[in-house]
Amino acid sequence: MNKGPEVARGKTKILYQHPDQPDAVIVSSQDSITAGDGAKRNVITGKGRLAALTTARIFRLLNACGLPTHYLSGGEDEDDNEMIVRRCEMIPIEVVVRGVAAGSYLKRHPAVKEGAVFAPRLVEYFFKDDARHDPQYSAEQIIAEDLATPAELGEMTDVALLVFEILAHAWKQQNVLLIDLKVEFGRHKTADGESQILLADVIDNDSWRIWPGGDPKRMLDKQIYRNMGTPKDNELGVVKEKYEEVAERVAQFQKSVGGFVTIIMGSSADAAHAERIGKALSGFGIPSTKHVASAHKTPMYALTRVHQTDSAMGRVVYITIAGRSNALSAFVDAATPNPVIACPVIGSNWAGMEILSSLQLPSGVASLVVLEPENAALAAAKILGVDDTVLFGRVLVAQYRSRKNVIESDARMATAPPNGKAGA
Ligand code: 5GP
Repeated sequence: MNKGPEVARGKTKILYQHPDQPDAVIVSSQDSITAGDGAKRNVITGKGRLAALTTARIFRLLNACGLPTHYLSGGEDEDDNEMIVRRCEMIPIEVVVRGVAAGSYLKRHPAVKEGAVFAPRLVEYFFKDDARHDPQYSAEQIIAEDLATPAELGEMTDVALLVFEILAHAWKQQNVLLIDLKVEFGRHKTADGESQILLADVIDNDSWRIWPGGDPKRMLDKQIYRNMGTPKDNELGVVKEKYEEVAERVAQFQKSVGGFVTIIMGSSADAAHAERIGKALSGFGIPSTKHVASAHKTPMYALTRVHQTDSAMGRVVYITIAGRSNALSAFVDAATPNPVIACPVIGSNWAGMEILSSLQLPSGVASLVVLEPENAALAAAKILGVDDTVLFGRVLVAQYRSRKNVIESDARMATAPPNGKAGA
């Protein structure tokens, strides 16, 4: 790729100005591998290509989930060690998320055993300074030293936790436990001059610990290299094999199971309700089809629709809409092994009674009930997200935005305490 002048250089990558786009830089991953803040250094031919491949696949997954990252394109071809990313002013903080105790945490907390689970996840910050061995910083220190504002640090922490959960889910699909993860952030100037926090740098096999089957002896990550004394050529070959395996496994992260939702409504009078569900599903990127079929009036036809849906490719969740006496949801549920969510239209003077027809079911019938159309779509997204990491990530990001809305509303609503003094 044509490159402009060098912009910056790290231990394992070089950044160049993009020749045509002033707002973009090219990250060129190098074949070096280092440990001990650069004290140990080796070259593994092809490692730069594997690092770029791994990072590109991970950042594409995170972008697909709706997370703001600096990644634009590149790095995905088997012979390509370069990615194009948005230009950022890097914040010199490593944000580490830990799900399981390992590494430097154990040295700092010798009483804790390797493998102890952190619930909630633990977030730690380290100031990037090789000469001082990346000292741990508190949130207060980061803010006092003007490295990030409280709002920026809050965003970095929240996004780091989301990234961890998304990658933990992706690894879980392959029976691999994500132990911990390091991410970095930058400030990007948007077209309208706003400063935006973006997930930046790289996420590759140097950035995490991953244990297949939860077993540290089967680790696949850079810790293998850290644990070696002075590595011999054949040992470096073993390290390279692990990096190749990880790049290949990461290619599965965006694998879609082709999930979809079939909305069956008892009458065309329910179309507006169905429309709201379809719109909310589109927000998650879930395709849906709509049918009108009544359990009371056209039972055989409704059954045919269920059989047709069940024989289609991909995972299906049904959302059934019926007003008044809801026979449809239980009827569909008894006819299919796939999940059925009843989202009844509650409207008449009998509303309180009507709902009982969705709740009180015979044995062996398990249609679920979710009243709000948007919530029914969310429930379907959660079900389909069980083995689809993009969907799982989109649900996580939607929940994060919903939490943020509440907190921002509180900030707008909050008034000064009496006398203007906190705690007065
Ligand atoms: P620890 O603090 O236990 O050494 O590392 C915590 C996590 O952050 C591990 O997943 C480790 O691989 C990652 N990590 C820590 N420091 C660095 C670093 O300087 N570069 C990279 N790529 N990852 C790091």
